Amino acid sequence: MIERWDIITIGNLSRNRYWGESEERPLRPTLCTSTLITGPGFRLLADPSCEDAERMAAELGRRSGLKPESIDAVFITHHHGDHHFGLKHFPHARWFAAAGAAAAINESGQYGRPVEPAPGRLFDEIELIPTPGHTLDHHSLRLQSEGLVVVVAGDAVMTRDFWRERRGYFNSVDFDLAARTMDELAACADIIVPGHDNCFPVRR
Ligand SMILES: [Zn+2]
Repeated sequence: MIERWDIITIGNLSRNRYWGESEERPLRPTLCTSTLITGPGFRLLADPSCEDAERMAAELGRRSGLKPESIDAVFITHHHGDHHFGLKHFPHARWFAAAGAAAAINESGQYGRPVEPAPGRLFDEIELIPTPGHTLDHHSLRLQSEGLVVVVAGDAVMTRDFWRERRGYFNSVDFDLAARTMDELAACADIIVPGHDNCFPVRR
């Protein structure tokens, strides 16, 4: 049983067409949404967001009371750097991503230690679901909490505005596939945790 899930950082985009901004160049540093999932005997952090060690520890502490060494596992939704900026601050944890994303991160050699290809479920309670479109090897996490299906979507859903229009981000590789993935999520999720925004309910 999932005991709780908590958003550690609420993400933002470097440029947001729904705020009237051009997609030509970044207007601010990007930050991804980072989510802590807690169950019996495990604490998993999805998409560690902060490049700076002190900031990562401070965000985790203020939202959960935990220190980085209390995190058992980290899951990365896709290989884009902003979704694993904080990975190195969790040396005690196991590092997971779906096979393709793990290979892409490991190829860069930037961490001196490999990200493990994740099995289909993590800690029994958390299911990996393929959510291609933003990248082809993108995977999200699905879990049940208090009778609701929660999908930690990563960049399969950028923000609530992008979700409403089933739209990919400027750097998404396949916009049609991204839209189909969001339709599939709409059919199976009650709550979406997007890659760069606060969580929101799925309207039926
Ligand atoms: Zn991305």
